[in-house]
Order: sequence, then structure tokens, then C-alpha cells
Amino acid sequence: MARVLGDRYELGGRIGVGGTAEVFEARDRRLDRRVAIKLLRIDFADASARARFEHEARAAASLSHPNVVRIYDVGEDGSRPYLVMELVEGHSVAELLDERGRLEPALVVVIVEQILGALAEAHAAGWVHRDVKPSNILLAADGVAKLADFGIAKALSDATQGMTAAGQLIGTAKYLSPEQVSGDAATARSDLYALGVVLYEMLAGEPPFVAETPIAIALAHQRAPVPPLAARRPGLAPALVAVVERALQKDPDRRFVDAESMRHALSAASDASIAPLIASTAVLPADSAAATAVVPLADPTDVIAAHEPSPIPLVSTDQSQTPNRASRRALGVAVAILAFVAVLVVARRNAQDWNGVLPSTTIPAPVTTAVPTTAKVSTTTAPLTIDALIARIAANPAAAGEKGDELLKKLREIQRENAQKPGGKSVQETARKTADEINEWVDEGELDPSIAAVAQQVLQTLAR
Ligand code: ADP
Ligand code: MG
Repeated sequence: MARVLGDRYELGGRIGVGGTAEVFEARDRRLDRRVAIKLLRIDFADASARARFEHEARAAASLSHPNVVRIYDVGEDGSRPYLVMELVEGHSVAELLDERGRLEPALVVVIVEQILGALAEAHAAGWVHRDVKPSNILLAADGVAKLADFGIAKALSDATQGMTAAGQLIGTAKYLSPEQVSGDAATARSDLYALGVVLYEMLAGEPPFVAETPIAIALAHQRAPVPPLAARRPGLAPALVAVVERALQKDPDRRFVDAESMRHALSAASDASIAPLIASTAVLPADSAAATAVVPLADPTDVIAAHEPSPIPLVSTDQSQTPNRASRRALGVAVAILAFVAVLVVARRNAQDWNGVLPSTTIPAPVTTAVPTTAKVSTTTAPLTIDALIARIAANPAAAGEKGDELLKKLREIQRENAQKPGGKSVQETARKTADEINEWVDEGELDPSIAAVAQQVLQTLAR
């Protein structure tokens, strides 16, 4: 018989163990759905501490965002409080880093952009996460990155006020902002710092500060200069390095003003690495529903051959596993990466509005990775037409950014000219001019980069 919590949740297998809790898969009998249950291993000092915790956790349950792991319920099993959460079937960034060492910049950007989207909204609502770290970033197989444990660090610290162990209970020194080391309250910018550390770690393969003891790490956050990322990972786009450096400023005032502006800078910085990827991949026809489900082909070498020059590999092949080390877990993580890679562009901002417009990404898999035969495969190579692009932008111009309407106007102009004199000089000229404008708009942050990339691809064929 499965153990049942609160006469409602049937505990299944254990998914993970953290500093303060164990996480189990479970079934909610009442709603007949699978959930995750976080069972705390904390003995609260008294009933009021537990009540404080539950109060905070309940408040956190009000947070609703596609990139935040939803809290559904709070309860108690004997003296142990538990949280019922959305079950994310996939892997954490911590697991990915364990397996891969470091991640490809384009993948890093896609993950962090989503987390910044979550932070922007939560910060605006007055929440500070306080425990942003790789194990709290969960990657669902459909390409969505979700931030777990929002509000939990606060709930724990509120509940454990006055307990001597409180300092050790919460968070890990690895991602602690300098102001928190100094004993100041964490702010939204402390979350940005922590995410900066995660960014650094994903790109470099190790966090900026590593030391024997948590205290030594904490002091390094407070005082030591950040070891140059460009030296640890040569070849990174300087703009991307600049984003990380700014997030890691010791003085909160010198960091990004908010999550939205950090996301903005990251998107702009990523263009350099993502644009060639988009340019070298096929574009789905506008009516295709398969845009979000393109997974590398059964034989990865086919993909490489089909897309010479090969796109930037998102998965470091230099750290591939040897076949006999390819445990089930490694395979699971690899598949998760592949699924992620498959929706790389679609998963970016405004993804829902852009299904079908955004290009599919077919990326070479690490050569040693087996790809499940059940993977959905798309080999469509039909180019996107200007008509389809116009139709999609027209459906929601604001989703393309401030210049969405203007882009639409230009595209319609080109469409008209092309109808009058297909492929004529004026079509070519307007297409070229519009392409230049698009670049400026992206630089100014007035147009979504991924949409711009698709538009550029359409214009390129017309400008010839
Ligand atoms: P930590 O975040 O410090 O690792 P947690 O107790 O929060 O500790 O989580 C333990 C592990 O359980 C996490 O590393 C993660 O892999 C997994 N996990 C946590 N929450 C969920 C969830 N909602 N869905 C799926 N897995 C989860
Ligand atoms: Mg966690």
C-alpha cells in the first residue's frame, strides 16, 4: 500500500533529496493527477514556527507563471510539513551540469531568458526568490524551464527565526549575493546576482567562486574579483560575457535594474550565437503544428549532413559520454537536452504566439547518444512565405515588440510590390532596407530577436 498524506496524496518514488527536504512523485487522489511532494526534514521549534512556514508557503501558492513551478497545496504529515507542487518531468540544470560539465551558450540563453521572465513577473508582484540555483531550475521535456521553490527560502527563514541553525538551513553559499553575506535582506537584485552565478557556471562549467568551506565562498562573493569568464570559456560572445559580469557586480546598484532589462540584454547578446543557427535551419510551413516537436533524427549524422554548414551544436560533444557510461540517467538527461534543443527558438519569448512561424531547429545530437525511436521527427524544409509571416504577425503585432506594427507595414508594402512585379527591383530594395531597419530595431530592443531572425530569412530570399 502506498503511503498516503493528508488522506489525499499517494506517495510514489523519491525524485530527489535536498538540504531541507525530500521530493517524491505522488498522485493526487482527489484531482486524479500526478504531483510532486516536498516533504520537509525540518523540526520546527514550535507550532507558531510551523504556522509561519505554512502561511508563507500558502502565499507562494498564489504565484502563477508558466516558468514558475506551481505550488498547489500545503499540509502536515505528523510533525513534517509538506508542499504539493506541480510535477516537472525532466531534469534540473544541476543534473545537466553534472552530466555535461558545461552547456552551449545558445541553450544557456534559452533557459535563462525563461527564468528571467518568471523573475520579472514575480519581482513585480513583490516576491524575491532568495534561492536561485541550478537545482531549482527544472527543465521540462517540452522545452519549458521552470523555477522551483519560489517563496520557500523566505518561508523557511521566517519559520526558523531565532534558531541557531537558520543560517545553514537556507540556500547555499555558492549563489549567495554579497549583500546577503553582509547580512542585508535579499532583494530582487540578489536574485539577479544568483542567476548571474548560475549563468557563469553553465557557461564556464564551474561557479566563479569555489572554496573549501561555505564561509570562504561567501567571503569571496563579498570581496574577491570575479575570475574572468572569457578566460574560462574562450570564444564566448563579448556581449554575453558582459551580461554575466554586470549581473555579478558586487554593488547591487551596478547590476541590471531589473529582470526584464537583464533579459533584454541577454536576448540581444544571444543574437550573435543564435542567428547563424536559425539561418542554417529549415523553416516550417506556417500551418505546421509540428514547430514545437522537432527532435533530431534517429541517425544524428543525417541531420549534420542535411545542414552543412552544420549549425552551432547546442550540446557540447567534447564532453560526450562514452557508450558504456551511458547510464539510463545520462540517457534521460540527454533526451531532455535534445527535447530542449528542439524547441530552442520556439521556447523563447512569446512562444505561444509564434508556433509555426519560428524555424524548427534540427541539431546534431552527441554522437554517442541514442535517440528514442518514438521521437517525433520533422524533415520539412518548405520556406516560410511572406504571406504566412504577415498573417502571423498580424495576429498579434505587439508580441513582436514595439516595432511589430511597423514591421507589419513594411512587409505588406513588400507584399504589394511583389504582387505587382514579382522579384522586381523595388521589392529587392525595400526588402534590403527593411532588413537593415530590423537590425536596428533589434539593437534598440524594439523587436523580438527571434521574430526578427525569421523575418530576415524571408526578406533574404526576396532581396536576392
Ligand atoms: P534542492 O533544490 O536543494 O536540490 P529540493 O528538496 O528542493 O532540494 O529538491 C530536490 C530535488 O528534487 C531537486 O534537485 C529536483 O531535481 C527535484 N525536484 C524538486 N521539485 C521538483 C518538482 N516540482 N518536480 C520534479 N522534480 C523536482
Ligand atoms: Mg529546490
